[in-house]
Formats: sequence, structure tokens, C-alpha cells
Amino acid sequence: MSFVPANSGISKLKPYQPGKPISELERELGLTDIVKLASNENPLGCSDKVKEAVAAEIAEIGRYPDGGGFILKDQIKTQFGFNHDQITLGNGSNDLLEMFARAFVSSSDSVVYSQHAFAVYALVTQAINAQAIEVPAKGFSHDLEAMAAAIQDNTKLVFIANPNNPTGTWFEEAEFEAFMQKVPANVIVVLDEAYVEYFPENFNSLKFLQQYPNLIVSRTLSKCYGLAALRVGFALASVEVTDYLNRIRQPFNVNHLAMVAAVAALKDEDFIARSREVNKAGMAQLEAGFKALGLNYVPSRANFILVDVQADPAATFNGLLKQGVIVRPVGISSHIRVSIGTEAENAKFLSALATVLGLEAKA
Ligand SMILES: *Cc1c(COP(=O)(O)O)cnc(C)c1O
Repeated sequence: MSFVPANSGISKLKPYQPGKPISELERELGLTDIVKLASNENPLGCSDKVKEAVAAEIAEIGRYPDGGGFILKDQIKTQFGFNHDQITLGNGSNDLLEMFARAFVSSSDSVVYSQHAFAVYALVTQAINAQAIEVPAKGFSHDLEAMAAAIQDNTKLVFIANPNNPTGTWFEEAEFEAFMQKVPANVIVVLDEAYVEYFPENFNSLKFLQQYPNLIVSRTLSKCYGLAALRVGFALASVEVTDYLNRIRQPFNVNHLAMVAAVAALKDEDFIARSREVNKAGMAQLEAGFKALGLNYVPSRANFILVDVQADPAATFNGLLKQGVIVRPVGISSHIRVSIGTEAENAKFLSALATVLGLEAKA
């Protein structure tokens, strides 16, 4: 390129591929009635209380939002028991993942994450031209022992997702604790819990924040809370870590309507309970559907499932598009990832999948 080149990290960067929007498929194929099961959104949308809260604040958008995020931090404090100086708000948790890398890693450092982990970890590492240490997965799961062993003298940060996207795999408290004990105190561990609301019985990571000042727990309002379009996430960490994050955070990174919506969403526990039920029922429906088609899947504790279609994932993805169903090929051989939808959406997907793969369901 003859024009001013980007920094060497960014010039090698391949941008994140988002799930295909419904509107795009409508334009391309002239289809209506499209089912999108590609981005792990809540099929119920968001709580009615969120809609009311946002509508009531719409006249306020002429003013800058509260850069300190007081109302949202206060709700997080009430609900999770952390003071404002331990909370960092993000324009989606994606914003936070980028802040973590920018705050703690420079180009001479390395970042550890797992094979088959969330794609953004590799992107934010590459953007600062740091060294990526991708640790082979154990089956489809994070190999926490190997990840601890992979930490080098120049490692500044480890990204872990529990449950992991795109595999849906998870680990238990004892494994995590054993891992944390092996990580040097000067290495930041990011525990990305984007899907924690779906299976809260797994384990409570928040208590480890007391014990490990190098731990950051990252949460999002995009998945179970149903606010993907508004972009809100938050990170809980020690006061020291939080202070660094807030030095690089854009002053108004979370907008006013997003904060108002997030407060209403966090308060509406019934909506979360209902979302969890719909997800459990949908998971059972998809698992039964896969079994009837003779397809293997990876057991999941999130709101999506990775299924082995025993075929080319790109061809399967394209075949499903023509049937009006958007799923996600995720770069894992012969697998696609499907988000759990409503009962009707799941049924449409299963029948489209059978058609595309030329399979017949056996009861
Ligand atoms: C979806 C997702 C996120 C990011 O979601 P935001 O919309 O940016 O909050 C973060 N981590 C994982 C593992 C995810 O799947």
C-alpha cells in the first residue's frame, strides 16, 4: 500500500464478522419471515419495563449522558454488592475487552487465550500488535491447566470465557480456583461471563474478586437482558484495576438511554427468569431435534449450541439462508453455531436443517 500504512498490528487485522442482519438477508433474497439465530440475542427481545423506561427518557437525548454512570453503577452496586470504584461501564462488553487490552498490554507483551475462544480476544490482541498465545482446547473446552502453563514472563493478560462462545462449554469453580492460584499476581485474568445469567447455578465468580486483585469479571446486557442494540456491559474488578480502566475509557462511552434501559433490565428479575425458562426449553427442543437427525452437538450452558452438521459449514449456512434461517459458521470444521430461539423459531430451523442436509428426523 502506498498510502500511510496503519500500525503493523492493524494492517494484519481481519475485522470481526458479525452475524448477518435480518434486513440484509431480506434485501438480498427478497425473503420475509426470516429467523435469525446467529448472534445469541434474546428471542423474547427485551423486558416491557425497559421499553417504558426508555420511552420516558427520550426527551433527554439533547444532553450528554452522565459520564460517571451513577444510576447504572448504583443499580449494579445494589444487585452485586460492589462499590462504584470497582465498576467500569462499557459500550457493550466488547468495548471493555478492548479497554482491558489497551490498559494492560503493550506490543512487547503477550496475551493468552484458548483455541475456539471468542473471536474478539484475538482481534484486540492483534490491534495492539501484542503476541497472541493461543492454547489448544481440550475437546471444545478451555484447558485451564495448559493455559496457566502457557503464561510467559511477558504475559500481561489472559482471556477466559465461561461459558465459552462459540462452543458453549464451561468449567466449574474448583477448576477456576486452581487456575487462579497458578497465575502470577501481575497477570490480569479477564473472566468473560456474557452468558452467566442462563445457568447461574454453575458458580459465583464474584467472590473471587475479593481474593484476586488481578481478576476482572466482565458482564453484558446484550444477551439474556435483551439489550444488544443499546450496547451496555460492565466490568467488576479491584479499585486499582478499575482506576486504570477508567483512565482510558471514553468519557461518554455509555449513552443515556442505554443506562436507563440497563437499570430497568437489571431490576426485572421476572424477565430474566422467563428468558432462562425459554432457553432451557429451547435447548431441550434443539437437542432432541439433533438426536432425531442423528447429529452430534456440544453440550452447552449458554443460549446457543454448536452442532456437527457432518457437512461443509459454509454450504450449510448458505443453504439455511435460502430457507430464511440465519445461523453462524464459526470456523470449527463441520460445525455451525445456532442460537436458541422461541419454540417456533427452533422448529423452523430444525426443519430447514433437515431439508438442507437431506436428512429425515427419526422419532
Ligand atoms: C456476545 C459476547 C460478548 C460481547 O457482547 P457485547 O454485546 O459487546 O456486550 C462478549 N463476550 C462473549 C463471550 C460474547 O459471546
